[in-house]
Amino acid sequence: MESPRTLQSAILFFSDEQRSIDTVARMRWIDGVVRCPFCDATGAYWIKTQKRWKCRECREQFSVKVKTVFEDSPISLSKWLPCLWMLANCKNGVSSWEIHRSLGVSQKTAWFMLHRLRLGIQAPQPQFKMGGSGSEVEVDETFIGAKAKNMHRARKLRWQQERNKIPNSQSTRMTNERTYGKTPVMGILDRTERKVRANVIPAVKRETLQEQILNQVERGTTIYTDDAVSYEKALSKDYVHAVVNHLNRYVDGRVHTNGLENFWSLLKRSLHGSYVAVEPFHLHRYVDEQAFRYNNRATRDNPLTDSDRFLLALSQVTGKRLTYAELTGKVGDDGTTPVPF
Ligand SMILES: [Zn+2]
Repeated sequence: MESPRTLQSAILFFSDEQRSIDTVARMRWIDGVVRCPFCDATGAYWIKTQKRWKCRECREQFSVKVKTVFEDSPISLSKWLPCLWMLANCKNGVSSWEIHRSLGVSQKTAWFMLHRLRLGIQAPQPQFKMGGSGSEVEVDETFIGAKAKNMHRARKLRWQQERNKIPNSQSTRMTNERTYGKTPVMGILDRTERKVRANVIPAVKRETLQEQILNQVERGTTIYTDDAVSYEKALSKDYVHAVVNHLNRYVDGRVHTNGLENFWSLLKRSLHGSYVAVEPFHLHRYVDEQAFRYNNRATRDNPLTDSDRFLLALSQVTGKRLTYAELTGKVGDDGTTPVPF
């Protein structure tokens, strides 16, 4: 059977349990060598009747799900994998109700599956800074949440207490009426790499914004923001900083934050269209989920397909975090080329 290209063929393909196991195993053990999840020994043998391996060293048995987000779940991979396919590929996100209807699991189960999978594709702690001398980065914030008048009383109170802790001198547009009671999300977009990093930020303070930039962006980078006040101090020294001119956006065609605005609109569409009431506490998972789709979207240099995106997501939920180049075998520092499916 041909490897799946569409959701429909993925559902068919993964309805075969052995094929599902093989797919997860190949993404999990890229070099094709099965390693015991308990003692890391190789040379485990396959027990066909159990659909498990047995380790020759520690004598433990393990299925392909052990030590992945699928662990301890009674749900079969024939449901998990199409669910991951939808999460990785539905541009505007997917709700537990859609999973419930498409895959025939209860809505509660679907909710649990999506949360686990989101955990798996959460952005890792970045290992390097973005930008560099000569490159351009957009920085912007957005605010997610209900309008103050629709807010629950307890939440409104909590918000007011938080806001009162911030001295007036440090207030930014994050503390004004338009953004009252909402959760701030900050984004940094590297125009050359065409990748975004977005984080839910805990404190509505100017320092937080500046700290994020100092921690995540190389000095010497050209930074575009559309809010001068929040950034000016920290940026003038270490970065080339240009502020979007809202009266005349076309003064300089490069000074804009349109890339991030595009990302925000995708994020908001997925939150409003598909998800019911996301609590601030959970918001970072949805932000990471959208960043995963955005950073792995098809571009001229990276012509990813739905199938590629699914495999990248699968490599993350099994703990491997392949890049597209590694996935397609363009780069392989250990000389191996993964064979998906
Ligand atoms: Zn072992």
